[in-house]
Amino acid sequence: MKTITVLGATGSIGDSTLDVVGRHPERFRVHALTAHGNVEKLLQLAVRHRPEVVSVTDPQAAAGMEARLRSAGLATRLAVGPDEVVEVAGAPGIDCVMAAIVGAAGLAPTLAAARAARSVMLANKEAIVMAGRLFIQTCRQSQVALLPIDSEHNALFQCLPSPHGPSGQTTGEAVRRLILTASGGPFRTTPVAALDSVSPDQACAHPKWSMGRKISVDSATMMNKGLELIEAHYLFDMPASRLEVLIHPQSIVHSLVEYMDGSVLAQLGNPDMRVPIAHALGYPDRIASGASLLDLAAIGRLEFETPDEGRFPCLRIAREALAAGGGAPCVLNAANEVGVAEFLSGRVRFSDIARINQAVLEALPQADAPDSLEEALELDKRARHLAKQQLERCPT
Ligand code: NDP
Repeated sequence: MKTITVLGATGSIGDSTLDVVGRHPERFRVHALTAHGNVEKLLQLAVRHRPEVVSVTDPQAAAGMEARLRSAGLATRLAVGPDEVVEVAGAPGIDCVMAAIVGAAGLAPTLAAARAARSVMLANKEAIVMAGRLFIQTCRQSQVALLPIDSEHNALFQCLPSPHGPSGQTTGEAVRRLILTASGGPFRTTPVAALDSVSPDQACAHPKWSMGRKISVDSATMMNKGLELIEAHYLFDMPASRLEVLIHPQSIVHSLVEYMDGSVLAQLGNPDMRVPIAHALGYPDRIASGASLLDLAAIGRLEFETPDEGRFPCLRIAREALAAGGGAPCVLNAANEVGVAEFLSGRVRFSDIARINQAVLEALPQADAPDSLEEALELDKRARHLAKQQLERCPT
């Protein structure tokens, strides 16, 4: 029986995780669930999974929650506020923590989990983009098993040689390239001139994946793939020159590893996040995910194309941040979070997101890589401030 904590339990990854967990009551016991403000859903999840702790980061939303837990007949402890969620994430002796808070808000809890848990399942890519070196060092020092949840990184993890296998060759010696696939999002074929007037709902209508709104917009700009390139660089210790992106509209091939001898290994499956989540939850065993099985004959065709960075400037900007190194990925992540939030609120246009990202990256070109949580949060704050100044230059 593994104990599990789900950070961001009320979100899309939280849903998929608890769906898989619920299929295997003999394997998993839920220790803690966290949310920001969606206490209705958190209460429903608490009734279903009976965790020892629930945590709500927004104190206003948490008002009345204690009484509601008791009237639902639960003895579950309620932890309120951002410091408490960090404490919940870092509780000692938990077998697996699913890190699925969206955005920079996930960094402190994810780092806390990396210090204390036995394994961290990383969905919160913004955490590793903000502080990749620090995050990987923390995982190494505490000997936590780091299991990627992003479908692309999970695919690469499955296709890479096992570090515990018989070969003495390093991954860098065996592997030529890591190729991340991308669906191309909802605007893959939309005329570029029309991108100025697309709405948040259009941007969130992903053709293949059902996800939270922030990552959906990132997929539409392809910043998501840019963040994933940075994530892959840190997770697999691969230089930018050996990381590629390939558009694959069907989202069946989740990523590929090209070896030195010309062999290419790929992981395939229907686009359902329960597949990588079940892989990580069961690891090293394989467990049922609930996803439908792949029928290649019915799909018939798998297509691939090179991404057009003219259409998707965010992909180019992310590559620039990766090449610049240091604190540039942290700066880019903060600028992007501001741009996406403003776009979702209807205050800036879709194409302004890339403009804000580029301007903030240029304004803070030589920031150092953060060596501590405090440094990462400080750099994030500076970049957000600059991004907000940029908003004044965006006509709506
Ligand atoms: P959602 O928006 O669906 O869920 C976000 C979760 O984070 C919710 O539980 C939300 O709580 C919580 N949250 C939001 N703000 C805060 C905050 N300030 N402090 C603490 N908790 C907060 O996002 P997704 O599930 O789509 O994505 C989560 C992460 O996983 C992201 O980093 C994303 O990039 C990554 N990911 C997602 C994929 C997907 O298919 N969805 C695929 C691969 C990666 P509340 O509901 O109460 O607001």
